[in-house]
Amino acid sequence: MNEIKKIDKEMDQFVVIGLGRFGKSVALTLASLGKEVLVLDTHPDAIKQIENQVSSAVVCDSTATDVLHSLGVQNFDCVINCIGEDMQASILTTLICKELGVKYIVAKAQTEQHKKVLEKIGADMVVFPETYMGRKVASTLANPSQNVILSLTADFKIVEMATPDIWVDRSLGDMNIRNKYKITIIFIKRENEIISPEQSTVILKGDTLIVAGETSKINALSNKTKDVLDAHQSLKDALDE
Ligand code: ATP
Repeated sequence: MNEIKKIDKEMDQFVVIGLGRFGKSVALTLASLGKEVLVLDTHPDAIKQIENQVSSAVVCDSTATDVLHSLGVQNFDCVINCIGEDMQASILTTLICKELGVKYIVAKAQTEQHKKVLEKIGADMVVFPETYMGRKVASTLANPSQNVILSLTADFKIVEMATPDIWVDRSLGDMNIRNKYKITIIFIKRENEIISPEQSTVILKGDTLIVAGETSKINALSNKTKDVLDAHQSLKDALDE
């Protein structure tokens, strides 16, 4: 992903085109979040698999302008074009959505050239799901004591991490964490409880910390922990995303 058009309001109505693994996962996640989802695919079997779990589902070819127009895709908040392999269909579908005046278009790319074309014809966000997932899996395996929740920039991230042994049974104020380690503890997960930490909060063994800060500072800190997060669970969560 690079230049992404800003999303300026919460979106409620989505069209998902192409129900491969990525499209299906996007459609089902949006539906589970209570969003209105129309799915389109040329294959009746792909439609049949999820038609009962989304608002509406239509077997059709998205490269036909009149079809997309009569389905009213231009009235939805966002179209997510998940066609990958058939680059011509992917490009044509994005172009038609743009011409119909769709407000926000997300498109999946297979290659850098594909991405360039999609951006050129007006996709507002271009994604490479495999690259994103590859990074997530690799960083979980390479650093099992932390699970990256969000990479804000190349140098700044928010992670879930196991508690460093040297912090156990000490309060945040006592350790002067923000000044000494240059990181901020946003939340502490203690069993099923989420604690919003104060200076007087004491860290216990087994706590999981949600931490924001510079990548180098967080990595240095997570090297000081013997505990590892459940890397298997983190990977499972990532792959279910
Ligand atoms: P994934 O990696 O997410 O599994 P993929 O990159 O293999 O997907 P494709 O095989 O290109 O993706 O297609 C995904 C889906 O898009 C398929 O179910 C296919 O039937 C559908 N599709 C392809 N072309 C069109 C089209 N013109 N109109 C509607 N659906 C289409």
